[in-house]
Amino acid sequence: MAGRRVRAYIGLGANLGDPAATLADGVRALAALPGVRVRGVSRLYATAPVGVIDQPEFRNAVVALDVPPGPDPATAALALLVALKGLERAFGRRDRERWGPRELDLDLLLFGRARLAVERPPAGLSLDRGKADALLVVPHRDAAGRLFVLAPLEDLAAGLVPPGWGHTVAWFRRRREAIEGASSVRPLAIWDAARRGWVPIEEERPSHLEQRGRPGDGTGRGP
Ligand code: ATP
Ligand code: CA
Ligand code: CA
Repeated sequence: MAGRRVRAYIGLGANLGDPAATLADGVRALAALPGVRVRGVSRLYATAPVGVIDQPEFRNAVVALDVPPGPDPATAALALLVALKGLERAFGRRDRERWGPRELDLDLLLFGRARLAVERPPAGLSLDRGKADALLVVPHRDAAGRLFVLAPLEDLAAGLVPPGWGHTVAWFRRRREAIEGASSVRPLAIWDAARRGWVPIEEERPSHLEQRGRPGDGTGRGP
């Protein structure tokens, strides 16, 4: 059907430089990809590192995109992966250890209803030398077991049952939270679509600050 789009979910992560600013730039860069429309941006989370734990705290978020369906899901998803890898490079990411610190990580979490496992091309042609794993696995292999993915994904798609998961995103988030503890991911900010940037989530405000939120100040946001 002409004009049909695929809903893709991208996981963003960063823990070097100014990660919140990088993730905001990352969202804007995704929005600027040809044929891509941003359909939702999760909250911004502070998350404890997983795997290599001796490194700075991460910032994570998830973005929902509508992308062109291409001739088939594998072709379209690979085109998106190549675009994501190009953005990672543009944001200064270099080859380092897996799960180690990085300027920006962009993972293709979900690509519509597609289940894909695309092997790497033969060694000499590899796009990522020295990496033995598959070029692209969708849904992302570890998404269901990572609270730093599930919490922001739940912001956008709590009731979604990703292909092969058998339960909703919210179900998996609750399960992981019981294992990892709620404090391992903390929401810090919400995305302001009009200003295209993060707005900090206000902590409980001390009472002497309360009068600053004047009613009728024209913002429409209330105190
Ligand atoms: P993880 O994949 O466990 O989150 P990572 O993000 O640190 O680890 P990278 O070094 O960014 O790992 O990527 C390793 C390889 O994973 C990439 O070169 C890419 O080809 C491959 N890959 C497989 N499936 C996906 C996917 N769904 N999204 C992004 N990369 C993928
Ligand atoms: Ca990753
Ligand atoms: Ca990655």
